[in-house]
Amino acid sequence: MTPLAQELARLIRDEGPLSVSRYMALCLGHPRHGYYMKQDPFGAAGDFTTAPEISQVFGELIGLWAATVWRMMGEPAALRLVELGPGRGTLMQDVLRAARIVRGFREALSVHLVETSPVLRARQAETLGAAGVTPVWHDRVEDALEGPAIVLANEFLDALPLDQFVLTPEGWRERLVGLNGEGQLAFGLSAEPAGEIARATPPGAVLEQPLAALETVATVARHVAARGGAALFIDYGSMRSGFGDTLQAMRRHGFVDALAEPGDADLTVHVDFARMAQAARAAGAAVHGPATQRDFLLALGLEQRTAALSRRATPEQAQTLAEGANRLVETGSATAMGELFKVLALAEPGLPLLPGFDLHRLSEQSEP
Ligand code: SAH
Repeated sequence: MTPLAQELARLIRDEGPLSVSRYMALCLGHPRHGYYMKQDPFGAAGDFTTAPEISQVFGELIGLWAATVWRMMGEPAALRLVELGPGRGTLMQDVLRAARIVRGFREALSVHLVETSPVLRARQAETLGAAGVTPVWHDRVEDALEGPAIVLANEFLDALPLDQFVLTPEGWRERLVGLNGEGQLAFGLSAEPAGEIARATPPGAVLEQPLAALETVATVARHVAARGGAALFIDYGSMRSGFGDTLQAMRRHGFVDALAEPGDADLTVHVDFARMAQAARAAGAAVHGPATQRDFLLALGLEQRTAALSRRATPEQAQTLAEGANRLVETGSATAMGELFKVLALAEPGLPLLPGFDLHRLSEQSEP
C-alpha cells in the first residue's frame, strides 16, 4: 500500500466513501503524497511524455500562433501570456523563443503560470530563468487573468477531477471509492439515488461530470470575452459527448489500475471537447475548432518548420526531429497523438478565424 492509500483508507473509515473527484484531487494534489506535489513525472525515465517534451516544434508553432493572435487583437501594448499546468516549462520556453521573431510581441508580454506543485514550480523557474524570463506564479486560474490575455493549456484539463455516475436498474447512482472486505480501495455505488443525471441512456452507462474543467474553461472564456484575448486547450479526448468511464492511471509509460498506487501513478480523464466548447460559448467567447492535433499542427506548418530546422541539423538530429514531428501527428490507432489529441481555441468575439482552424482550406489543399 502506498502512504496515500493508507491515509485514504483511514479517511474512508472515518467519513465514508469518497467521490471520484475527491479521490482524483487527493491522488494528484495531496500536499505531501500527491502525485504532482512530490515529483517531476515527465520524460523517458518518468511516467509519461507530453508533446512539448517530444519536439521543440510543438511549442514554436504555438508561439507563432500566439504572436499571430496578438496581431489580430490589434497588438495591445501589454498582454499576459498565461500557461495552465506548465510541467517542466518546456512549452513556454519554446513559445517565447519562436515569438521573438515577431516584432514588438515579446516586449508586450508578461508571463504568468498557474501551477500548484512546488517541485514543478522550481523546475519551471530553472527552465525559464535560463531563458531570461521571470514568470509570476499563481495557484488558481482566476488569479492569473488580468487585462488582455492569451492562455495556453496542454494536458491540463485531463488532470482536473471529475465525478462519475452509473445508470443502474434502480436509477442513477454515484460511483464512489470505498473499501472492500480486505480493507483495500474498491469502486462502489452510492446507496442514495443521484437524481435524473441524463435521459435516454443505455443501462449500465457511466456519465462523467467534469465540473472543475468546465469551470476552468468558463472562467477563461468569460475573461477573454470581456477583456480580450484567446485561449488554446490541447488534450486527449473526444469531439462529441458520450458515455463511458475514461479514468486512467499511468506509471512508467504503461496503464495501471486506477486504485492500485494512489499518489504514485498519474491519474487522468479524457476531455469532452463538445461540452468544453458549449461552456465557452455560454460564457460569451467565440469557439474555434475543435480540430485534431494533426490538422492543427499541419495547418500551422509543422512540416515546413521541421524541414527548416533539419537543414541546420546533424543527420542524427534531423532523424530525431522527423520522428518527433511524426509522433505528434500520427494517426491510425486509438492512442496515436494526431487523432487522440484535440485542440480547442476560445477567443474574444469578432476575431477572424484563428490560425490552425482553417480546416476547410486545408482539406482543399490536401485533395489530390
Ligand atoms: N503542460 C505540461 C504538463 C502537463 S501535466 C506538458 O505538456 O508537458 C499537468 C500539469 O498541471 C503539471 O504541471 C501539474 O503540476 C499541473 N496541475 C495539475 N493539477 C493542477 C491544478 N489543479 N492546478 C494547477 N496546476 C495543476
